[in-house]
Amino acid sequence: MQRRAHGLAALLMNAIRLGLFLYCLGAASAAVAAEPSRVLILTGADPSQPAAFVQIRAIRSMLDAELPGSTEVYLDSIDGFRFGDEDLTQTFQALMQKKYKGQHIDLIIVLGTHAADFVLQYRETLWPGTPVLFSSVTDSWMAQHTLPPGIAVLPFPTDVSQTLAVAQALQPRARRLVVVGGVSDVDKEMIGRVVRAANREPGYWASVEQWEGLGLGELKKRLAGLGKDDVVIYTTIYRDREGHRYFPYQLVQPMVQASHAPIYGWYSTYVEGGITAGVVYDLAGNGTNTGKAAVAILKNGGTFTNVALPAMPARCVANVAELERFGLSVASLPPDCQLVNFPPSIFREYRGTMLTLVGVLLAQALTIVALLAQRRKRRDAEAESAARGSELARAARFAAAGELSASIAHEVGQPLGAILSNADAAELLVTSPHADVGELQEILSDVKRDALRANDVVQRLRALLQKQSIVFAPLPVDTTLRESLPLLEPEARRRNIRIDTQFAAGDLEVMGDHVQLQQVLLNLAVNAMDAMHESAPANRVLTLVTRPAGEGMEIAVADRGSGFRVSCPEQLFEPFYTTKPHGMGLGLSIVRSIVEAHHGRVSAALRSGGGAEIVVWLPLMKGGYRAPAADDFSATAPDKAAAPASDVSR
Ligand code: ADP
Repeated sequence: MQRRAHGLAALLMNAIRLGLFLYCLGAASAAVAAEPSRVLILTGADPSQPAAFVQIRAIRSMLDAELPGSTEVYLDSIDGFRFGDEDLTQTFQALMQKKYKGQHIDLIIVLGTHAADFVLQYRETLWPGTPVLFSSVTDSWMAQHTLPPGIAVLPFPTDVSQTLAVAQALQPRARRLVVVGGVSDVDKEMIGRVVRAANREPGYWASVEQWEGLGLGELKKRLAGLGKDDVVIYTTIYRDREGHRYFPYQLVQPMVQASHAPIYGWYSTYVEGGITAGVVYDLAGNGTNTGKAAVAILKNGGTFTNVALPAMPARCVANVAELERFGLSVASLPPDCQLVNFPPSIFREYRGTMLTLVGVLLAQALTIVALLAQRRKRRDAEAESAARGSELARAARFAAAGELSASIAHEVGQPLGAILSNADAAELLVTSPHADVGELQEILSDVKRDALRANDVVQRLRALLQKQSIVFAPLPVDTTLRESLPLLEPEARRRNIRIDTQFAAGDLEVMGDHVQLQQVLLNLAVNAMDAMHESAPANRVLTLVTRPAGEGMEIAVADRGSGFRVSCPEQLFEPFYTTKPHGMGLGLSIVRSIVEAHHGRVSAALRSGGGAEIVVWLPLMKGGYRAPAADDFSATAPDKAAAPASDVSR
């Protein structure tokens, strides 16, 4: 029993020990998993300098994104560009030793040549065996140093000749090259690069000037003295001759403002400062590439196998506002050149609104064009219709003249016969030995009168049938109608019809066309005579009346004929309505068209006591006479009788 209890206690103890072991193991493995990768970024420049800052930020973003929560990033700066002359490296090395004592660093990222110098000298002392990634270390520095194993390099070429080529393309006539730089080592090296690149084209540049280490005041003065056919290349000024220290980008804006010549460079920070153009190195892009390479090295356990090390990306960039200031053409740039800093333009600022506006204007313009085209077509159609109507009216006059032809022939024949007999008589008289001169004169004056009478009828007929322009003119109605009587009277006589005229309009005038008003009277009078075909001789009276009526005057044509049987008298004026065996049914519709073209109206009514009366009302000239319009003639096509304007022939 005691042995069993002892065995149980031993088992329990073992279980507790196992539990404790497992717990410790878990804790230990958790501690191992939580160990972060430590990355030291060592920059040769002030880390707040934009060129360094954009790269550091891109590296950090890449590490945070790809290895979230498992990296610790430290940053130390040597600022050798500005403090390169003092021998601070040993002091700095002592500081680093103290700072990172007992700290395991997994990767050192070196930015710039000053940091590269330092790491090359002290790596084995400070961080033996730690992998190192070089970025932003110039190709000239690389050419002068041999690197030990354990250092990977992202190429950082600075091909200034590409920027020089852009300047030459934009300013083909320029022959004076000014190279601006400072007096620090890096500054001088950069100036040397540009001068060497310029000298690679012997004879191209008439002068290559090196403005080295000028103070800002002097520099601005000299830049203001340049012309727009000069080329300025700005390298870097970390230090000037007077001992002032700068970040090179800080001088860009004052230089651009002072300069009367375009300035070129190759740093993206210079583009932001307003230089004209250049083949620009993308420092942020280089930072991203550096971050990617760092992530790959850390994931690889510190080795460089399969780690991509791309060169710093570069692209042509041009400042549109500066191009415009110096009258340089965008077309001279390489086709893929990126354009920045467009001057403010309403089209660029409010692109959407402007596009909408342009769209609306375009739509409006199209509508206007369509409407104009439509109006043109309508006018053409109206003119065509008016011309046809005019032709129709003329044809109708021919028809009316045809109806009157027998009596007109008689009217002309009578004087011709009289002339003939008078000629016979004169002939006899002349051959007689006692010729009476007085009698002869009488005969000749009879001949003259008869000839004039025949000529008068022929002239009237000619005037009626002639093709001539429609002329709207002030027209005394009574006189105009009276002039048509000689054409009607012979026919009336032939038909044994008496014409009773009661012209009471006096000298009232309407604005109208002479021939068209006569045509109205002829049409109505012939219809009236037709209607009295079977009337008793006593009733055969054609009454023609004119009288004032309100703001106009009336012409009434009345007869004692058969009258009409239509329920609505309006029907008589419809085209092709006729009750006559050989009628065309166009006379009254032509009358209506002519009257409406004169802004008048026409109506038909039966007369008490038998017969019909057609009354035409026309506005008088005074009191707001309205000029005849095209529409008035074409509204009732095809039976239009008149044209609106004098340029339409009939
Ligand atoms: P058409 O004379 O060729 O028939 P119109 O247009 O001049 O053509 O006349 C149309 C019709 O109106 C005539 O056929 C006739 O029936 C009727 N009409 C016209 N004037 C008179 C009138 N004064 N009396 C009776 N009917 C008339």
